[in-house]
This record gives sequence, structure tokens and C-alpha cells, in this order.
Amino acid sequence: MSREQKAVERARKAFFTGRSKSLEYRISQLKNLQRFMQERQKEIAEALKKDLKRSEFGTSLYETLGVESEINLALKKLKEWAAPRPVNKSLMTISDQVYIQPEPLGVVLIIGAWNYPWAVTVGPLVGAIAAGNAAVIKPSEVSAHTSKVMEEFLPLYLDKELYPVVTGGVKETQELLKQRFDHIFYTGNGMVGKIIMEAAAKHLTPTTLELGGKSPCYIDKDCDLTIACRRIAWGKYSNCGQTCIAPDYILCDPSIQDRVIEEIKKNIKEFYTENPQKCPDYGRIINQRHFKRLMSLMEGSSIAVSGEHNEAECYIAPTVLRDVKPDAKVMQEEIFGPLLPIVTVNSVDEAIKFINQRDKPLALYIFSSDKKLIDRMIAETSSGGLMANDCLMHFSVSSLPFGGVGDSGMGRYHGKHGFDNLSHMRGVLLKQLKMEAVNKMRYPPHTADKLGW
Ligand code: NAD
Repeated sequence: MSREQKAVERARKAFFTGRSKSLEYRISQLKNLQRFMQERQKEIAEALKKDLKRSEFGTSLYETLGVESEINLALKKLKEWAAPRPVNKSLMTISDQVYIQPEPLGVVLIIGAWNYPWAVTVGPLVGAIAAGNAAVIKPSEVSAHTSKVMEEFLPLYLDKELYPVVTGGVKETQELLKQRFDHIFYTGNGMVGKIIMEAAAKHLTPTTLELGGKSPCYIDKDCDLTIACRRIAWGKYSNCGQTCIAPDYILCDPSIQDRVIEEIKKNIKEFYTENPQKCPDYGRIINQRHFKRLMSLMEGSSIAVSGEHNEAECYIAPTVLRDVKPDAKVMQEEIFGPLLPIVTVNSVDEAIKFINQRDKPLALYIFSSDKKLIDRMIAETSSGGLMANDCLMHFSVSSLPFGGVGDSGMGRYHGKHGFDNLSHMRGVLLKQLKMEAVNKMRYPPHTADKLGW
């Protein structure tokens, strides 16, 4: 029996003991997870520094604070989320009890990605524990140090039978995928997303796919470009552009392109100094493969800001590309790096058409002071999430569902959405063995006499 198979079997056996279902147990495990993050803060930050050159503050801001607040919310709300949810009754069930009972699904497989390896792996785990499931955790092999911290320390805090960590790469993940799960929660690219769905189909396992794609950013010419470009520069270059909801490209009127470039350039300098390569707040591309991919994406586009790079260090400076054509290489795939192409459009109609002709994005950003324009964008486009006049921040709001639509994924999480996503919503109707007269009509024979016709 493989290591992966053993981990799943142990988790299932532990699930069948029923201990993960008790609310007290779920709360104790969530508190242990919270303690783990507090006590091992140093190890987590060191690992993220080694994996992504992330600063200590960056680790709190982008990785741990969000997960901690998800844990706090779950601790506060768990009783309410797990309680029976009464629903409207029909005339025929007026004297019955009718409600929805959230129940655990069983064993959940969580497959994480490397770009925010803590947030996208431990984040979904909060929902899995809160919903009363067992969970097999498979962190990304690409962020190997973070993966190691999970493997080494998580079992010291959590029930290791119910929540095993299985490390490894493609081979190990594929071995895991042969097993039967009750839900697979995958974060990563769409190509692997298809492999996950195919494997899940063999066992009719439902999946959540947290994918990516090209998230457009439309800038209206009548908005405050200084503030807009500052927020865009932050959203784009954080984590070196390796953010699933980073604005992938800008759509704007040709008349404001030069101003947009100037403003973004100004902010790059302010955020990361004249030399971002030396700046502790600026990251690196995760590996040589992605470095080469990004360099080749720049081919054929005209560079408006920087473009500097250093292969040995996997460094690419915050870069802006101007007058990019829709058929340019950089517009054919999710960039996932610090390159910001500007595509000019002559009207909002053109922008909407441009967005709708492509895959449904994970995020859509609109910068405008015109409420009507924003409402139009909301009404006439589709995306996983939408934000007006800022970037990334919708990820931090636990009351908003986070997830994609179409090519950007399926399913959702954060707060109660994560709990619901990893629960089965069981419909329950409780009747008493009384008032049989009410049922008279439904029993055959359906004679005219009985029906009163
Ligand atoms: P990755 O390389 O870390 O892969 C993700 C996981 O898939 C890993 O655990 C890996 O072991 C596994 N995997 C890789 N190849 C596999 C295969 N052939 N068979 C089975 N398993 C396999 O991460 P990535 O895919 O490079 O991540 C980047 C992508 O993830 C981007 O598209 C980004 O937008 C997306 N992303 C989405 C979110 C979100 O919340 N929607 C968050 C982060 C990243």
C-alpha cells in the first residue's frame, strides 16, 4: 500500500470514529491550528522568505493574517453555521419540522499552490475542519520550505489521523488522486484543474477548482488616475505579480495611456526604489522555468517601463508594456509575473466586448468615478469577483464568496461560504405519525368519489 493510500485510509478510519463531527472537537482543532500559527510564526516566515523572498511583514499581510481571521470567524460562528436551518413550509407540511442540516462530507483532499502557499493551503483547511471533515493536505512541492513546515509541525498540533500532510510532486499527487475522496479542493492552474476533474469523475467526487486567468483592469478616462494607478501598481507588483487575482492587463482610452504609464512608473519607484532588485519588499520569480516563460511573453511588445532582469536571481523588474495588441504573446495566457500590458480601447463598449470575448476572469477591476459605468460593467460582464477602484482587497472580506466562474474555476470559500462548500446540505422533513386524514387524497385509488369530482 502506498504512503498516499495509507494516509487516506487512516483519515477515513478516523472520520468514521465520528470525532471530527463534534462541535467541541472542531473548535479544539481550530484553536490548535491558531496556536500552531502563533507559536511557529518564525518558522513560517523563514520558509516563505526562502521560497518566495517574502518579507516578514509580507508574510503577515498576505498569508497569515487572513487565515487567522478566518479561524477567528469560524470559532465565533461555528455553532450558528452548523445549526439546523429552518426553511419555508408548504401547506402539506405546515405542522412538520422542515430544515436544512449541514453535515460533513467525509474526507477532503486539499491541493495547494505555491504562490501564496500558506493562504491557499491552510485557508481551505479552516473550512474543512469547521465543517467537520477529515482532510488530507497536499501542499505544493514548488514552495518546498513552506511545505516542509506544514509536514513537520502540523501533526504536532492537529489530530494527525484526521488531517495528515502528504508532501510530494506530480507523482504523489497523482497517487493521491487515485483514491476516493468526498471532495477535492484544488488551487492551481486550469490545465491541472482538468486532470483533477478527470480523476474526481472516476469516483463522482465533487470538486472546488480555484484557478486563475487573465483578470482585466479597466480605467475610465474620467477617474483620479493618481490614486487609480497607485492601487493598480500595488495589486500588480505585490508578490512579483504572482497573484491569482493580480490585474493581468490594463484596458484604457489611448488618450490616457501616457499618464497611466507615468503614474505607475512613479509608484514603482516609490514602492520599490530606483533599484527594485535590492529592495527587500520586492520578490522574485519562483523558478527558472517561470522566468524563461515570462521573458518570452515580453517578445514583440514595446516596453514603456523597465524590463530589466537577471536570470541567475530570477529577477524581473516591475515592467509596463505599451500599445499591446490583442494578439500579442503576452495577451494569450495568464501572465503571473510583473509585466503589465496596456491595451487601448476607444470606448466602454469596446472594453466590455473585449472582456466578454475572452475566458471569464477570476477578478474584474474597474477604476471610475461614474457609478453608472460601474453598474454597466457589473450588468454586462461576468467574473469570479469584481472590484471597483481598488485591487485584491475583495479577497480579504470573509463575507464575500471567493472563487471563479467558467475557466477561472468553480466552487467558493472564505467564511461561511467555505463551511457551506465543504458541507452537504441535507434536506430534512420530520413528520409525526398523526393527522393521517390530511394524506387521504394522495393514496390510491384516486376515484372521482374520493376526489370529490
Ligand atoms: P503548482 O505548480 O504549485 O501546482 C498546484 C498543485 O498541483 C501542486 O500541489 C502540484 O503538486 C499539483 N500538480 C501539478 N501538476 C500536476 C499534475 N500533472 N497532476 C496532478 N497534480 C499536479 O501551482 P500552479 O498551477 O503553478 O499555480 C499557479 C496557478 O494557480 C495560477 O494560474 C494562479 O492563478 C492559480 N491560483 C489560483 C488561486 C485561487 O485562489 N483561485 C490562488 C493561487 C493560485
